Amino acid sequence: MTDYDGVNLELHRAHSARMYDYFLGGITNFAADREAAGKAKAVMPWIETTARINRAFMHRSTRALAEAGIDQFLDIGTGIPTSPNLHEIAQRVNPAAKVVYADNDPIVLAHAKALLIGTTEGRTSYVQADVTDPAALLASAELRETLDFSRPIALSLNALLHFVPDELGTYGIVELFKGALVSGSALAMTHVTSDFAPGEIARLVDIYQSAGTALQSRSEQEFTRFFAGWDLVAPGVVPTQRWRPDSAKAAAASDIESSVYAAVALKP
Ligand code: SAH
Repeated sequence: MTDYDGVNLELHRAHSARMYDYFLGGITNFAADREAAGKAKAVMPWIETTARINRAFMHRSTRALAEAGIDQFLDIGTGIPTSPNLHEIAQRVNPAAKVVYADNDPIVLAHAKALLIGTTEGRTSYVQADVTDPAALLASAELRETLDFSRPIALSLNALLHFVPDELGTYGIVELFKGALVSGSALAMTHVTSDFAPGEIARLVDIYQSAGTALQSRSEQEFTRFFAGWDLVAPGVVPTQRWRPDSAKAAAASDIESSVYAAVALKP
């Protein structure tokens, strides 16, 4: 399979979604993805832990936001479906929760059906869109038909913005999304940092770069800037495993093994 509905899946080159799937132990990855992932693992032998605990932050933050009463979710850069997906977590807390997923990778689109099997009371939909074109994403019919923008929405940008380098206007993009949401909305985000393992992350950036994917790590200060004007909830900006761990196992990783910042903030 190289084409899906006329879309070229570019199986000859590594894609970030499929490399991440490989790190999580998934089966939706191909030779070029595994080759690049293997190189990444050679410089960062703990990268599978990095991916797993990044994913676990999505579970905990989604549960916390659903328990706090948010019932609408927009998850951009959702990735290849890996159960539990965000809607499963949210709808476990509130079966009526509505979820819109977005990603720009055609293979995620090819697997999106798995994301759309939700509760009968709730609703899930999928938008093929690029985060760097917020106007198109925000105007999409699937999004507008599923979510009510006059009520709070939790926007998640997990492990996404390190694929959007500064020259694409990353901060302006995030501000556009923040501006589209009403008070009480949330922003949940994770992002690769070189604050803990600078040498390894520099080499990881090179590996992604040579595989054709721009990767930019950001410092704690640069990550925190994405939440400007919003109120960070406890514990603030921390490596993923320190964000409200729900078991000794969840908290067990080191900051180096994470090398990813996480935070959740609410719009005042
Ligand atoms: N959010 C998930 C998956 C992260 S992997 C998680 O944290 O578990 C990063 C995802 O972002 C991939 O699926 C990739 O296809 C997607 N992505 C990368 N650049 C993107 C862009 N410009 N617009 C939309 N999605 C993008």
